[in-house]
Amino acid sequence: KYEHVKKPEWLKIKIKTTESYKNIKKLVSDNRLHTVCEEAKCPNIYECWSERSTATFMILGSICTRACRFCAVATGRPTELDWAEPERVADSVSVMGLKHVVVTAVARDDLKDGGAAVFAETIRAIRRKNPYTTVEVLPSDMKGDYESLHTLMDAQPDIFNHNVETVRRLTPRVRAIAKYDRSLELLKRVKEISPNTPTKSSIMVGLGETKEELLETMDDLLAHNVDILTIGQYMQPTKKHLNVVRYYHPDEFEELKQIALEKGFEHCEAGPFVRSSYHADEQVRSRPQQ
Ligand code: SF4
Ligand code: SF4
Repeated sequence: KYEHVKKPEWLKIKIKTTESYKNIKKLVSDNRLHTVCEEAKCPNIYECWSERSTATFMILGSICTRACRFCAVATGRPTELDWAEPERVADSVSVMGLKHVVVTAVARDDLKDGGAAVFAETIRAIRRKNPYTTVEVLPSDMKGDYESLHTLMDAQPDIFNHNVETVRRLTPRVRAIAKYDRSLELLKRVKEISPNTPTKSSIMVGLGETKEELLETMDDLLAHNVDILTIGQYMQPTKKHLNVVRYYHPDEFEELKQIALEKGFEHCEAGPFVRSSYHADEQVRSRPQQ
């Protein structure tokens, strides 16, 4: 068990509301839309929403079959599949006029395809209503089932994102059920299925990893052809979750970013508040004509 570490000055959230942020916030509340951005109280919301750049939606219900020790999502028996959900998300994207949307989900280990068919339908529904919006998916590992992965990839997301979250050694402690190598393999398979789709992964720091382990994780991701890396500070959602072992200084994030770029990532975002969807709209390559 680690001692409680005090939150440093640089983690105080700066609220920068603009007119355009207020407008979009009103649209979201008038239309009773649900975004991860608001529900997770993401500190980047003023930035992401102001330019209508990005928002994140969670599909497949709100109850997860896993219980990762860093994550505030409720665990339990998931809800029935809701086939109206894809259209609802597509409508929300239209109302918000988003340039880029991130679709994530709880892990649905109760479903044979892990929810891949609903993911695919959500991508298609968004595209039908919002042809200029780019779509990023952030699914679970689908228990390493490649048939499910094919189902999802058939809908051709613009970015495939799957987070390793932490270094190899800490994975069993931090992520329930997930396996470090299974996540890496999943990312590699995406590239085999669709070589032009950028792949992306995220690491949280501050859980007790060493710098060597972080660099090793970067190497592992690159060896599995991952293009984009995001690195952010782990923050404890409630006292029941894993303690923060250390808060990294903004300069350390900058150093990690430089190392990642030198090692060969095409794009890297690193900073105390960086989340896996942060500045995601800047990471999309132009989509080949279909
Ligand atoms: Fe939403 Fe992600 Fe931006 Fe946070 S970083 S506001 S979750 S899109
Ligand atoms: Fe949270 Fe995802 Fe883990 Fe479920 S699988 S507990 S949603 S991080």
